[in-house]
Amino acid sequence: MHKDIATPVRTKAILEKYGFSFKKSLGQNFLIDTNILRRIVEFAGLTKESGAIEIGPGIGALTEQLAKYSKKVVAFEIDQRLLPILEDTLSPYDNVKVIHSDVLKANVAETIKQEFQDTEDLMVVANLPYYVTTPIIMKLLEEQLPIRGMVVMLQKEVGDRISAKPGTKDYGSLSIAVQYYTKAETVMIVPKTVFMPQPNVDSAVIRLTKRDKPLVSVKDEEFFFTVTRASFAQRRKTLQNNLTSQLPNGKEKKNEIIAAIERAGIDPQRRGETLSIEEFAKLSDELFDEFKN
Ligand code: SAM
Repeated sequence: MHKDIATPVRTKAILEKYGFSFKKSLGQNFLIDTNILRRIVEFAGLTKESGAIEIGPGIGALTEQLAKYSKKVVAFEIDQRLLPILEDTLSPYDNVKVIHSDVLKANVAETIKQEFQDTEDLMVVANLPYYVTTPIIMKLLEEQLPIRGMVVMLQKEVGDRISAKPGTKDYGSLSIAVQYYTKAETVMIVPKTVFMPQPNVDSAVIRLTKRDKPLVSVKDEEFFFTVTRASFAQRRKTLQNNLTSQLPNGKEKKNEIIAAIERAGIDPQRRGETLSIEEFAKLSDELFDEFKN
């Protein structure tokens, strides 16, 4: 058995050996607690038949655990300086492939086709770089990849927004976008002390389990997301005010907008944060007829 990478002593030794300095701008906070990593891997429910996709392997702390508990790991890392380090730290494992790439620019679907041909169960597992958490999650969801779900570490505050229920202060267009595609749960709150260097904010691990089909069915997905974003543009404003100020030509179409809200069975004076996702679906379908041209 090899000594785990994720201990303070081993991590420091690796960083010193390579003279590595953290880049804050790349969200580099490495995990130094093997127990937390094992729990992350457990939450992902991997077996020796599963494939794992990791974003940002760093010096390989999580990658190593994924390599031990899955069939194969493919990891996307943006920082060139980490490649020789990963080559070294992950040399005991023959089931890991590191791809030097910004995951936001990568063709993940194509990579899955090439690397996971005969793998039925695929999970994204990552300690995400906090400066791009939301774009990464949304890219992976919108591309409708053949994955079972994701278990990711992120800022607790973003995790709260993702799993928020209607009527709460954290509920917004991000909650709706993620819950549209997945069942979202916060499975662990993580203290700052398990990172090197320690981040300024608290962290959480969330599990997103992909739904067989989206939570609601709508006439036009893109328009549904436009309506939800518009409805939360100013949280203190009513639905009617946000929609008339945000939708294209909304001011001229004020009467049509109010009529559509009412046809959806919703009081135009309510605030976006009180609407369930089902109500947003009805609302977007009623508005779509007014805006489709
Ligand atoms: N997985 C390691 C761990 O848990 O110790 C490192 C996690 S660290 C929070 C985030 C990692 O993502 C860093 O290695 C960073 O260089 C990498 N990263 C940042 N932006 C990225 C991007 N756009 N695409 C791929 N990797 C990125």
